Amino acid sequence: MATTSRFKTLKDMPVEDYLTPGNTMCAGCGGILAVRIFHKVLGPNVAWINAAGCMTITMSYPLSPIKSNWLYTAFASAPAGAQGVRDALDFLIAKGRLPASEDMKVVVVTGDGAAYDIGFQATAGAIDRNLDFYYLCYDNEAYGNTGFQMSTSTPFGASTKTTPATEAFPLGNTGRKKDLFEVWRIQKAPYVATLSNSHGVDFLRKVEKGGTIKGPKLYIDFAACPTGWGFDPKDSVEVEKLVVQTGIWPLKESVNGVVRHTFVPRSLVPVKEYLKTQERFRHLFEPAEKSEAVSIIQSQVNEYWRKAAAAEDLDVRLPEGAR
Ligand code: SF4
Repeated sequence: MATTSRFKTLKDMPVEDYLTPGNTMCAGCGGILAVRIFHKVLGPNVAWINAAGCMTITMSYPLSPIKSNWLYTAFASAPAGAQGVRDALDFLIAKGRLPASEDMKVVVVTGDGAAYDIGFQATAGAIDRNLDFYYLCYDNEAYGNTGFQMSTSTPFGASTKTTPATEAFPLGNTGRKKDLFEVWRIQKAPYVATLSNSHGVDFLRKVEKGGTIKGPKLYIDFAACPTGWGFDPKDSVEVEKLVVQTGIWPLKESVNGVVRHTFVPRSLVPVKEYLKTQERFRHLFEPAEKSEAVSIIQSQVNEYWRKAAAAEDLDVRLPEGAR
């Protein structure tokens, strides 16, 4: 990460908060924490464009806790909304009706349902048009506000409302999480990054860096969801930390297609330490451990880090006995 960043430690996080205390999100929600931090870096002049999701409910008139601007769009069309807002701002500035100093940063904010699935067509168009906008996805790996149904971000082995662990399907979801980072990268988006709320300086620097890059910028925040995943809300940031330490959620960025890991866990914690923290994976351990399924997850992580280590010459120690 560039040493020129104004963010050296967490103490450098801007004090100004653009969310008032109290909102209707669940206690411990990683998604709202991501919006809070993101906004701190961008400052006051922000236009948020939101597609249906958990965040929509908390930002609904007249109860919105956000101090900036919020536009709600249909599930599939947030990037199209962002295009309209960006065009309107450019027009007003060009006509002298809005001082350039009052220009706004246009930010799409959605959950994984819109980012990975329903809204992807509009997103692909916006990337293709090189729209200058940020896209913040708070990824809780399912459709949270409708009761936790599977999305294409749902990881292998997770139990959801539509992929419950049952006698017929003892592993829950057997699909593999879509790699949205790569999907954006191969479409030549100039900046793509993953975030975790637990790694605050990394988070702050990436949002800051996006401000120096024109065009579409994707941020995928690993947003712990106590309600859908089944863990105590007080442990939210710990769960977000553990997923990075296990290597399941790599912190990385791509600038013009070149990938770099921004945090490298020197010694990966076994994935089961993370899986055991959540109710959605309980069937992998009870009544007896489904070791084959757990090893599939561990092998996928090992395979990822072996390739990353070779490509970037990283020093990563895999868990003992790793295949
Ligand atoms: S369901 Fe999950 S993502 Fe949605 S508000 Fe609750 S904790 Fe946040």
